[in-house]
Amino acid sequence: MTLSGVARVAFVGSRRIFASHLPSMQSYTPAFSRQVHNPATGEVIANVSCMGGKETKDAISSAFDAFNSWSKLTAAERSKGLRKWYDLLMAHKEELGQLITLEQGKPLKEAVGEVDYGAKFIEFYAEEAKRVYGDIIPATLPDRRIFVLKQPVGVAGAITPWNFPLAMITRKVGPALACGCTVVLKPSEFTPLSALAAAELALQAGIPPGVVNVVMGNAPDIGDALLTSPQVRKITFTGSTAVGKKLMAGAAGTVKKVSLELGGNAPCIVFDDADLNVAVNGALAAKFRNSGQTCVCANRVLVQEGIYEKFADAFSKAVKNLKVGDGFGEGVVQGPLINKAALEKVETFVEDAVSKGAKVLLGGRRHSLGMTFYEPTVLSNVKSEMLVSREEVFGPVAPLLCFKTEEEAIHMANDTNAGLAAYIFTNNLQRTWRVSEALEYGLVGVNEGLISTEVAPFGGVKQSGLGREGSKYGMDEFLEIKYVCLGDMNRK
Ligand code: ADP
Repeated sequence: MTLSGVARVAFVGSRRIFASHLPSMQSYTPAFSRQVHNPATGEVIANVSCMGGKETKDAISSAFDAFNSWSKLTAAERSKGLRKWYDLLMAHKEELGQLITLEQGKPLKEAVGEVDYGAKFIEFYAEEAKRVYGDIIPATLPDRRIFVLKQPVGVAGAITPWNFPLAMITRKVGPALACGCTVVLKPSEFTPLSALAAAELALQAGIPPGVVNVVMGNAPDIGDALLTSPQVRKITFTGSTAVGKKLMAGAAGTVKKVSLELGGNAPCIVFDDADLNVAVNGALAAKFRNSGQTCVCANRVLVQEGIYEKFADAFSKAVKNLKVGDGFGEGVVQGPLINKAALEKVETFVEDAVSKGAKVLLGGRRHSLGMTFYEPTVLSNVKSEMLVSREEVFGPVAPLLCFKTEEEAIHMANDTNAGLAAYIFTNNLQRTWRVSEALEYGLVGVNEGLISTEVAPFGGVKQSGLGREGSKYGMDEFLEIKYVCLGDMNRK
């Protein structure tokens, strides 16, 4: 299939999704449409509908109606639908990967890897659907029985970002559907095509119309419609801390259940006793995946003074080998940034650091390829007060900070409002435990830079968010607990 073919398939798919998922809009023709761009070339790859409050309300009604029947299916029936969806995602792995590269820019190999990773959430939750167990609690009176039921929370509003256009969707929709919830999904305006393709495949898998609804366009209007509707009982969001706070405040009006995966400021701590190769490769993976555009990307590389020079040298050599280019190019491992605003943010952060005394060991400027390409960059002599240490750079910039003692490293690592991922590199077993326990983070990688998996709980503490995604814990976000007291057992 040609690349333009892939985009066309998604667009045709999107029409089918609107037609079948929003029954009141069978003949809906969008008043406005929105262009989707390839960030590597600037080309327009598709036009998609630009929706707002009215369409979101229709989608909520559609999800609300579908909830009645979807939640009443047996777990085995829901599981079958999810399993079929997983099979279809895997059968279209290559095309979906191309679609991700086309609209998001990440290298094709990484994009296909995202399809694999994303699909696994659907497979995992197809299995987990069958394990929503309740409890029987020994009663306090002889004629009573106490049961605990777990029931789906209802319609869930899912709002997702552009950095993992598919996996952030499956990580939310998988457990929601497994529990019996239905979903109104709002993908990022930058990457709607992967969402539309995934929703189309859900339909083809036999998941009934109305169970997965996609709306996209005007984010604040869509957000408001989701937040104010009493029919929406849950908001699940991945994105910036600023928007997450707005959604949390907005959800208060109707007291919805909320889970938030927000920004991070991941420390990557390299101790003197680390294996240099393991630390360099781990830090490279933790920093440069998706050109630094993930919320678990190492944002600060803290290196102990005894290994600092050796690490800085070996790390810079490794970074120099990273090939930058269009994600479809042979051997490319660093794609473009998502848009101009992202590029300018990276520039501002680097300028701020350099003006305050940081030294550019490598890169430090826009790439000669133009567009939104930025050179993989290593900065040394970085200090905690610089912007690049305080906030997420969300780009291919690795700032190296030097520390002397373990206590100092822990203090520097925790000195932030964020608390999503942290990484440590050490061969000392006691230190592994001490530091892992002392870090105020939701995820800790030890001698490993890539730690996300569908079987483990993913989520942050402090201002990095609420709740967990993936694993058995991800189910809890879409379930309510009901206590049933059966009284007067002995009445004849
Ligand atoms: P990023 O900076 O990573 O793009 P955002 O938080 O801006 O993160 O976006 C994440 C998702 O949140 C996107 O789908 C975006 O459209 C959506 N979004 C942004 N603002 C709002 C809003 N006011 N209400 C609802 N969704 C929003």
